[in-house]
Parts: sequence; C-alpha cells; structure tokens
Amino acid sequence: MALYVMKYGGTSVGSVERIRRVADQVAAVRAGGDDAVIVVSAMSGETNRLVAMAREIMPATVDTRELDVLLSTGEQVTIALLSMALKALNCDARSWTGAQVRVLTDAAHSKARIVDINTDRLRADIEAGCVPVVAGFQGVDEQGNITTLGRGGSDTSAVALAAALGADECRIYTDVDGVYTTDPRVESRARRLDRITFEEMLEMASLGSKVLQIRAVEFAGNYNVPLRVLSSFEPGPGTLITYDTEEDEMEQAVVSGIAFARDEAQVTITGVPDRPGIAYAILGPISDLNIVVDMIIQNVGADGLTDFTFTVNRDDYARVIEHLRSQSSELGGGSVSGDDRVAKLSVVGVGMRSHAGIASRMFRALSEAGINLRLISTSEIKVSVVIDEKYLELGVRSLHEEFELANASVDPD
Ligand code: ASP
Ligand code: MG
Repeated sequence: MALYVMKYGGTSVGSVERIRRVADQVAAVRAGGDDAVIVVSAMSGETNRLVAMAREIMPATVDTRELDVLLSTGEQVTIALLSMALKALNCDARSWTGAQVRVLTDAAHSKARIVDINTDRLRADIEAGCVPVVAGFQGVDEQGNITTLGRGGSDTSAVALAAALGADECRIYTDVDGVYTTDPRVESRARRLDRITFEEMLEMASLGSKVLQIRAVEFAGNYNVPLRVLSSFEPGPGTLITYDTEEDEMEQAVVSGIAFARDEAQVTITGVPDRPGIAYAILGPISDLNIVVDMIIQNVGADGLTDFTFTVNRDDYARVIEHLRSQSSELGGGSVSGDDRVAKLSVVGVGMRSHAGIASRMFRALSEAGINLRLISTSEIKVSVVIDEKYLELGVRSLHEEFELANASVDPD
C-alpha cells in the first residue's frame, strides 16, 4: 500500500464538472488500496480575479497581509467542493486549510517559505480511512497570520507535504501530460520524457519551461521526493523526476531538452574603467533595485577600459537603462546601450558531463540556420545563448533536430 500526495492545479479543478472528475480519480486510487493526500489550487482564473479586485481598491501599494487573506480564499473553495464531491462517491474526505493543518511559514507575505508542517491531523485522517484535502499555496506564520507562498505555490505545498509525510510519490496533475523535450507549441514533434533528473528539471524550469514551479523542484530535490508530472485529463505515466545513478547518466541521451525564455533583454555598458570594484559598482545597485540579473559577461580589458553585458527580464529593461544612464559619470563615463527583443535558448542535459562537443554541435546547428549568437554562457549541464527574438522558433527547431529529440515513431516527413 503506497501513499501518494496528489496535487491538482487550477484548470483541473476549474469547474464543478472537473472537480467531479478529480474526485473519480482519487476514489479510484483509494479503491485500489492506496492512500492519498490531496492538494488543490484555486479554480483557474480565481487568483487573478482576486488580485485584480485588490488592485482596484489599493492601486499603489497593496497591503500584503490582507492580500494573503484574500488570495487564500481561492483554495478554500476548492478543498470544500472536492471534499463534497468525494463524499458523494462514498469516499470519506475532509478539507483542511493551511492554517488548520498547520503549515507553518515565515512571515514574508505573498512569498512565504514553509518552515514546518504538522502532519498529525493528516495522519489521523489517513489512519481513519479518510482522504485529507489540503489547500495549496497557503500557510500560517507564528503569529497566526495567513500567508501565501507566491504564485504557483501549490506545487511547493504538495512537495513539502509529501516530504513531511514520507510519501512514496508526489504526483502533480496538470493540463499537460508530462515534461517535454521542448514546448510542443513551438516544435510539434516534441516528445514527452519518461524521466528527467531534478537538476535537469531545475534548469528547464529556470530557463523558461513552465510546467512546475522552480521552488517545488528545488524542494523535491533537497528532500529526495520522487515527483511525477501527469495529466489530469488523460491517462498516462507522465514524467518522473528523480535522482539519477551514474549508470543511468551514461546511458541517457546527452541532451534531454531545449529550454527557452522569450521575455529577455540585453544591456551593455562599454568603456568603463577596468579596475577592482567595477562589476560591483554596476551590478550592486541593480540588485538593490530588486532586479534579477541573469547572464553576466565582462570582456577582456584593453587600454584600461572594459565592457559589460548582462541580461534582465524585459519588464525591468527600461528601469535598468535609466538607472545606468543616470550613473554614467560614477561609472567612468561608460556608454549604455541595449536591446529588449532578445531571447535565451538553452540545451540541457546531465549527459553533457560525460560527453564533449555539445556546445560546438549547438553552435554549428544555429549557424547553419543563419542565427547570430549575441551571448554565450555554459554550466556543467547546460549551454545557453542569447539570440534575436525573431529567430527563437527557428533556433528551437534546429536544436531539437540536431540533438535528435523528436519522437522516434513520428516520421518527420
Ligand atoms: N492559486 C495560486 C496561483 O494561481 C497558487 C497555484 O495555483 O499554485 O498562483
Ligand atoms: Mg497553478
């Protein structure tokens, strides 16, 4: 008898009809003799609707304590409805808010971190043959304030519960049937992966694949919780995310996937003095503005001067340019330029550790497609390039082809 934590996202509980279908699936797992703890998101669109109402009342500074009280209601609706639907199938169930369980978090409203989970009540339910249905995305701080974990946070709730309960698997049911070699909307021959490692999934998620919240993957990796992404609409094995043994690594495809992020911007400052402290002088104030900088490249200096290029999210582009221009004299008169129509394209795979030449294959494939590489960066298990946004689709398809990621059973012609 296994224990599964099963998490259903907003689209999976987006209507009463869909909630009934989730209840059918949960009841089937129980009928098969396994135990289940359910975690749900708010009905799709609900969290956005609540945020919009809050913004109408407080356009400038939203009161994050009250916002968390408001947003947590979305999940409270779905836990109650799903519990009712389960009971209607004679499957005993009980709803729990984060505070009722006692999902203890820090006090950082709207981006709280889970500190501890009390599993007593959930275990008592399981022992009594009752399915606990827990509200994702929410917790409570030491002072009893309701907190939320950040958008998409119910994935993290599910993984944290699975870790705390020592569950056999954390199953994330969503509107896609697994993790793909790349986004099927860009490359129709993208293939569902049976397995992927935590490290690869983390890279894919931080490089733009939106299947899972990054924090949830980190959490699962840290606590070694086997994580499975699968469709709530179609049967199928989904994608299992786990640690890999070294033997697996040797046998695996060298590249597991092609990730990309469209909404990038590139910022360059040329002719800054090549002296200790210049990187900090440029990037320190940007991080103080709470702007996340991604790739950072400093050129080799010449004649006492050097150049810096880095990328930021497109939404932050105007602020960064404005800030750097205002600091120009402090930065030794360097001139600032940039481009907010760029995209990042990456190949990811743990197999890179044991195979040479992945970067050069990537560069060749992109050059054959006539795509200019603006920036290049590498890590142990990925190679990323920044290119003009308009070539992104072409780049994704070229790399998907080069690394033979397409479904073997689908004839490309
Ligand atoms: N309902 C929350 C959101 O929309 C949490 C989640 O769906 O994971 O962000
Ligand atoms: Mg969600």
